[in-house]
Amino acid sequence: MFDVAIVGAGISGLICAQQLRQAGYRVVLMEKSRGLGGRVTTRRLQDTCADRGLSYLTPNGELTTRFVELLKSQDIVTVWTDTRHEFKADFGLKTVKGEPLYIAPNGMSAIARFLAKDLEVQLSRRVVGLNLFNDCWHLQFESSNTEVIAKAVVMAIPAPQALVLIESFAAPRVLDSLRKVEFSACISAIARYPTNTPLPSWRSLTVLDDDTLAWIGNDSSKRLGNTLPIFVFHSSAKFAQTYIDTEDLQPVGQLLLAKAAKLFPELANFDWLQCDRWRYAFPTVSLADHCLDARTPQPLFFCGDWCGGINLESAMRSGLAAAEQINQVLQPTLS
Ligand SMILES: Cc1cc2nc3c(=O)[nH]c(=O)nc-3n(C[C@H](O)[C@H](O)[C@H](O)COP(=O)(O)OP(=O)(O)OC[C@H]3O[C@@H](n4cnc5c(N)ncnc54)[C@H](O)[C@@H]3O)c2cc1C
Repeated sequence: MFDVAIVGAGISGLICAQQLRQAGYRVVLMEKSRGLGGRVTTRRLQDTCADRGLSYLTPNGELTTRFVELLKSQDIVTVWTDTRHEFKADFGLKTVKGEPLYIAPNGMSAIARFLAKDLEVQLSRRVVGLNLFNDCWHLQFESSNTEVIAKAVVMAIPAPQALVLIESFAAPRVLDSLRKVEFSACISAIARYPTNTPLPSWRSLTVLDDDTLAWIGNDSSKRLGNTLPIFVFHSSAKFAQTYIDTEDLQPVGQLLLAKAAKLFPELANFDWLQCDRWRYAFPTVSLADHCLDARTPQPLFFCGDWCGGINLESAMRSGLAAAEQINQVLQPTLS
């Protein structure tokens, strides 16, 4: 029996859990994937790693600014570059000086591991059902007969994924709010190149107004040591929409790389390629509130980047807002 069960160990869920644990609640996080961080995740490769989702941190709000300072002080992140590049068909390659981009040399998932310190996290636990018995929430899992029981639940997952779990019992107001939220998709590809392949010298390149590509990054330039060159490619939302349900993503990745090689012919000579799909990559229609209250009256709250924003800053703020709401409801019960 827990005070709070949090579904989803992305940044919003981890921050919410840390706040509540530090306030003295017994908290458990359930995560369907094998790793922490949600969209802040890193793929381990033979002698290196590559960031599959969020590629870098940009302090673009109060919380991310403070968070980057904290992560810097713990040697988790460091400056990657303050020089970005942009490519557009009509002007070609342009250099843009700006705020530094921060990366984790050990992979961006190091940020999630830092947030998860001292938390009870159950990995590979996909929540498939949520029921109320005797004023407590009972959470059911895929391929498991065990349950988790908690006084309060926070759903720290994208709205469309949350909707299917609560459709049978939530109030119409809550269902309407969740149905309003929309996301755009993204397909990302990690490509490895043989040593000594001549490659572009830029680190972070935004591709503007392109139907196929949105961003390319030199991922191996984030790491120390002599690893093989690795580039990461993010598709445009339009491209992802077309291919998101394609079973075998390998040919889709090749299409992405073919487009990249049209712009930068050196990028054609990769010797290994792996792709990921992000069905819910970026919120395009968000809710105004930082946290969605779905009390039945048993405490049930929703948080995530789609509550009050569209990015990591809003995911963090939303996780904090959900923790504050839970604390207000549960404090009288805390012995
Ligand atoms: C390719 C890419 C690039 C990005 N670049 C940037 C950027 O430059 N700047 C920026 O600010 N943001 C960026 N983002 C967005 C940023 O990563 C997100 O805003 C943020 O990480 C969202 O965190 P979250 O906790 O709201 O959700 P998520 O990270 O989606 O976490 C939700 C978690 O819930 C889990 N889950 C879902 N359903 C269940 C279930 N039924 N049971 C158990 N677990 C479940 C998921 O596996 C996931 O781990 C990027 C995202 C992607 C994909």
